[in-house]
Amino acid sequence: MVTITLSNTPRQSLVQISCVKGECTLCGFHRIPLCDKVLDPTNPRLVSWQRFEKLMVGKTKDSEMKELTCLEHKRTNPRMFLAYATPKVCDLVLHNHVAQWQDSQYKLCLKQLREGEIMSLIDFAENYSFKG
Ligand SMILES: [Zn+2]
Repeated sequence: MVTITLSNTPRQSLVQISCVKGECTLCGFHRIPLCDKVLDPTNPRLVSWQRFEKLMVGKTKDSEMKELTCLEHKRTNPRMFLAYATPKVCDLVLHNHVAQWQDSQYKLCLKQLREGEIMSLIDFAENYSFKG
């Protein structure tokens, strides 16, 4: 998907920020070939797909809502699937670019480390939360 939607700029380091943000007119999700028949909301054909969803499954001993993440199976028309998947793919392209850049910077710093120096590596997870 990344290969189809990103322009043909060198992938590792010289991708334009407008490309990875999905704002480029030369590349992006719109490059995926789709026909009007597939996008017709009355299209009777269904596609199967899956996604993780959080379900409320009760309350904890402290009366807080208890959630469970489950893999849910869907069967919808292609239009509904694309409405769900399009922003996810755009987010994935940006996330993938940032992860690759961070990895290359980590390796570059590690390579330039001199004797007697230390490197501190902190992972700032995107979904990190703290409850006190
Ligand atoms: Zn582009």
